[in-house]
Amino acid sequence: MTPRRLLPVLLTLLALVAVQQLYGCAAPADLEAGRDLEAAPERALVLVSLDGFRWDYLEAKPDVAAPTLRWLAGGVSARLVPVFPTKTFPNHYSLATGLHPQNHGIVGNSMRDPERLEDGEPARFSLGNRAAVEDGRWWGGEPIWVTAEKQGLRAATVFWPGTAAEIGGVRPSRWLSFDGDMAYDDRVDLALEWVDEGAALTTLYFEAVDSAGHRHGPDAPQVDAAIEHVDRALADLVEGLQARGRLETTDIVVVSDHGMVPVSRDRVVFFDDALDPDDYDVDWGEVPGVWPRADQDADAVVAALDALPHVRAFRKEDVPDRLHYSDHPRIPPVVVLLDEGWTLTSRDYFESRQDRPSGATHGFDNRYRSMHALFLARGPRFRSGLEVDSLQTVDVYGIVAGALGLEPAPNDGDAGALRVLR
Ligand code: AMP
Ligand code: ZN
Ligand code: ZN
Repeated sequence: MTPRRLLPVLLTLLALVAVQQLYGCAAPADLEAGRDLEAAPERALVLVSLDGFRWDYLEAKPDVAAPTLRWLAGGVSARLVPVFPTKTFPNHYSLATGLHPQNHGIVGNSMRDPERLEDGEPARFSLGNRAAVEDGRWWGGEPIWVTAEKQGLRAATVFWPGTAAEIGGVRPSRWLSFDGDMAYDDRVDLALEWVDEGAALTTLYFEAVDSAGHRHGPDAPQVDAAIEHVDRALADLVEGLQARGRLETTDIVVVSDHGMVPVSRDRVVFFDDALDPDDYDVDWGEVPGVWPRADQDADAVVAALDALPHVRAFRKEDVPDRLHYSDHPRIPPVVVLLDEGWTLTSRDYFESRQDRPSGATHGFDNRYRSMHALFLARGPRFRSGLEVDSLQTVDVYGIVAGALGLEPAPNDGDAGALRVLR
């Protein structure tokens, strides 16, 4: 290796060491409790998230080189029906807890909590706000890494929404703050290092497929390249486990959080055609919400918005039961459902952003197949050659707990999903 090529490698290594020192690998509480990772637990599972990997990508893109994903699909494979809203944080935390968002509290990627005021204003959460993301007060329920730690197994997480917060007084034995710049081979190396130290549950997270999908659309060659990129990371993981003699004893579960659908400047509905956007407190996005002021009638807001084409509006109490999106103070009083691929915006914003909307997105009603996600699992605890038509995202917690021999916390999953296990 030439010095020019060696330098970035050294810098990455140094950065990795710095990251490990900075962020919580063995939090002080762990050291006090003597919670060193044990060597080689009897059962081990690596849970990998491929953000934005639509359920049909492997079939729809037969020429994409994804040998490891296709090998994993020889175990259990299923279309995974995500929770609503079909966004990253709600879905990752439903995968982790088996709870619908209204029962775990992560009801969106961005939220406000009217029951907790900061400087007189509702506390705010967004996925780029590290202080909020790492604040356990946002995260309810019991995620799988907490279940594992509480029952004596060690968890190590190379990213997963929620793993950087203390939840129910517990953190994973090994974790680090989210860093989208960390190279994928470094993520895999760190996960393998923690497997060596005896982690029974290890998580990995890769965002490349989601990022390419947003920017270029689900059918673009850039998405194919991103799939090949994450497939190479999975190959490194499998080879690393094999080199350690751990492949036969480790289950690998690959999931995604949602799908992807194109958006366009031709599929836009204007809020202005119903109400004056300057008069209302609106959360914009794929699942718009309105927070009527005390002098504004929520029913009138619902009626006005519901009259728009491609829009259905509900008081939160009236959101269809199948979406499980009615019962949490962080859900806005008025919830707007858009037809897939449509955007609700204000005329001012639309005219100021000639580049928007473009590409593709997600967040829409989970009845759309375009929003559906992926479940693949292969290993000693999983059946092989089993194609299941569909599983629910809330089933994954119980499945992972079952594979690890853990007693699951109460959750919204279906016990029937355990048929994927041997
Ligand atoms: P979305 O906007 O729903 O497409 O979310 C995807 C983005 O979420 C990724 O590109 C990451 O930047 C971000 N993200 C994923 N995991 C985390 C995490 N654990 N902490 C903070 N941000 C994250
Ligand atoms: Zn996502
Ligand atoms: Zn996304």
